[in-house]
Amino acid sequence: MPTESLAAVLEAPIDDDTAFTDGRPVSVEEVQVADPTGEEVLVEIEATSLCHTDVGFARGHFDTPYPLVLGHEGAGVVREVGDQVAELDPGDHVVLGRIACGRCSQCRAGHSNLCSRRVPANESGRLRTGTVPFSRDGDPVHHCLGVSSFTEYTLVTEDVAIPVTDDLPMDRACLLGCGVFTGFGAVENTAGVRIGDSVAIFGVGGVGLNGVQAARICEADPIIAVDMVPEKLDLAREMGATHTIDASDGDPVDAIREIFPEGVDYAFEMTGHSGVITQGLDAVGSKGKSSSSAFRRSGRSRSTSTCTGCCSARRRSVGRCRGRTTSRWRSRSSLTSWPTGRSRSTRS
Ligand SMILES: [Zn+2]
Ligand SMILES: [Zn+2]
Repeated sequence: MPTESLAAVLEAPIDDDTAFTDGRPVSVEEVQVADPTGEEVLVEIEATSLCHTDVGFARGHFDTPYPLVLGHEGAGVVREVGDQVAELDPGDHVVLGRIACGRCSQCRAGHSNLCSRRVPANESGRLRTGTVPFSRDGDPVHHCLGVSSFTEYTLVTEDVAIPVTDDLPMDRACLLGCGVFTGFGAVENTAGVRIGDSVAIFGVGGVGLNGVQAARICEADPIIAVDMVPEKLDLAREMGATHTIDASDGDPVDAIREIFPEGVDYAFEMTGHSGVITQGLDAVGSKGKSSSSAFRRSGRSRSTSTCTGCCSARRRSVGRCRGRTTSRWRSRSSLTSWPTGRSRSTRS
């Protein structure tokens, strides 16, 4: 018997020049959620967070079918499980995240962000099992990144639902689904920042602040946070930034070079703006690396025109597709080893 659910449905994207208040691409609708079968899990969402990627979906920056139920960071409670679900039971608290399968050739090679089982499912608006679990009056409503969290109930595959302890507040747990491991994974896994490395992070929103935290845990020094919002810079200080730069006061690259004249070892662009990618390249030293959180835009390519000299100077631009969760965080099982997580073996 399908479950009735109120959901934020993105009917069709609007272009970049249309205001959301005019285009109104999202509406709250009654949808039906299919019962879980096989390795699927029905989750009642208790908290979800808004990510810039959601804005990208609403702007049509991704190849995906519409309409769809938005949202890809959520936390909630398992209500029903399919007959092949091995590690979850009704009542379990879970975080929903874009977790790779951990078994395909890309995952085994350390490129979980390119998981060959997850990516095709995401682009078809389906679960990895092939299911389109949402419908509206008999017509399909597609899934978003295997999560679809802007809804009262969602259906996901078991590997996407990561068990957490019951005392973890849901409004914080949901952040683990994307922003935390995107920012943290970029610094710790993709770049491999080590003790004493100098780091600059451009943009300290949800992703960037977790990059700052990762840099602190990796014992980087200095950790330079760049943003145009003073409150975010204050928060970055609390999270571990040793220096902050307000980019609205002048060229942040000049300011970084005042702190660290030779340029930093690592620059992380976490804003999604192409101009900032260039600033990241300019901020690194002769052997430095810059990493970008640029998003894939359908039919368009994001480019930077001023990277001349980066090859001769041995700078490296490290591509990153929405964070990499390999090495220490190889797929779902590794996230359960977090302090907030819970492994099957420790359950009571
Ligand atoms: Zn996200
Ligand atoms: Zn995989």
